[in-house]
Amino acid sequence: MLEDFTEEVRAFLDQELTPELRSAGQQTSGLYSEIPACRVWHDRLYRKGWIAPAWPAEFGGTGWNYAQRFLFERECALNDAPVLFASGLRSIGPLIIALGTLDHKERYLPRILSGDDLWCQGFSETGAGSDLAALQTRAIKDGETYVVTGRKLWTTGAHLANWMFALVRTQRASKPQDEITFLLIDMATPGIRTSPIITLDGQHEFNEVVFDEVRVPAANRMGAENDGWACAKHLMRFARSNNTNSSVLRRSWRALERTLALHAGTIETGLRNRITEIEIELASLESLELRLLESGRLSGDDEVGASLIKIAATELQQTISELMIDVAGPYAIASTSLRDSNSLLANGSYSGRKYFATRAASIYSGTNEIHRSLIARHLGKIAF
Ligand SMILES: Cc1cc2nc3c(=O)[nH]c(=O)nc-3n(C[C@H](O)[C@H](O)[C@H](O)COP(=O)(O)OP(=O)(O)OC[C@H]3O[C@@H](n4cnc5c(N)ncnc54)[C@H](O)[C@@H]3O)c2cc1C
Repeated sequence: MLEDFTEEVRAFLDQELTPELRSAGQQTSGLYSEIPACRVWHDRLYRKGWIAPAWPAEFGGTGWNYAQRFLFERECALNDAPVLFASGLRSIGPLIIALGTLDHKERYLPRILSGDDLWCQGFSETGAGSDLAALQTRAIKDGETYVVTGRKLWTTGAHLANWMFALVRTQRASKPQDEITFLLIDMATPGIRTSPIITLDGQHEFNEVVFDEVRVPAANRMGAENDGWACAKHLMRFARSNNTNSSVLRRSWRALERTLALHAGTIETGLRNRITEIEIELASLESLELRLLESGRLSGDDEVGASLIKIAATELQQTISELMIDVAGPYAIASTSLRDSNSLLANGSYSGRKYFATRAASIYSGTNEIHRSLIARHLGKIAF
């Protein structure tokens, strides 16, 4: 049964992944592939009915079980499919399905599925990352409108998205979590200014977004006023299960294999042995992830399973990118602008970009220190 499913996925990928799409997948060093390729790949998955593997079938999802979803992601990674920019599919879409009004569902879900709307997440601010409840962006009610003023930071894809889901402060109360509201904001609204933040790898993926008296209809609120913290916690249940996982690592592993192929014959035994050890760690991580998926511990309220995978996967991803640098040697300092070829220089340039980009993996989706604290708190509750 699963063999048949895997064959069906492979046949689809064989047919639909053009050399250009595979090349875009291979060139991805950050969180998503170049946007034109993302759009083409999104459209092909949408037409096939496979764009939302984790959504219930009644809302346009595939209805696949955990093993099918795992295999699908793995096959996409092994075939270098583009990595979608998919906060809509992975974060806000599932939240709208769970908590949205009928109007929200009718208005937003079809356009997330079709790819007409791209969403970004406006949570973090200066001084409000790990301590998110300290956020300062304010929304003042004016009739049936909220007037939003403030500044969001590290907003991935804000320059591409036409919608943002955001947390804003709506009143002063004794507990910071009790005064936050969750809003859906049209990025074309007057008063929004987006500026790029260029990362160490030379890429433009995230941004600063400034709100200057931006008027947001009250109908765009998720949940009740001042109940945004509960919405955000609900959203993190979905986001957690989309953290860095073994399919992301398979992509990194394929990049390492390409680098190895270019440097065949020049790799010393010690490095080769280390690479074999890391390949075994990757297989172990896949096995752990499957076991946690099977027992339902990578979704819902189980923070510990998701935290375990987040830490293990991001640290292994960083190790794989370090191995790429070791293999590429001096070529890894090539200019970040070299692309699209299998030459030693272009591959070295990619290895450098990938190394810098993966430094961020232990910071986003909750820093690894915060995830370690979550695990420690959980262990503290267990009587040995
Ligand atoms: C690539 C990337 C993409 C991102 N995309 C988005 C996005 O789209 N939308 C969005 O809203 N945000 C986004 N972020 C922001 C991200 O959520 C924050 O960077 C993250 O929550 C950490 O917050 P901070 O950067 O303010 O660091 P801080 O919270 O200031 O942490 C600094 C250091 O102190 C440590 N630390 C802080 N508090 C504790 C504690 N209680 N115990 C132990 N150690 C602690 C941290 O682990 C870290 O090492 C992105 C970040 C990155 C790197």
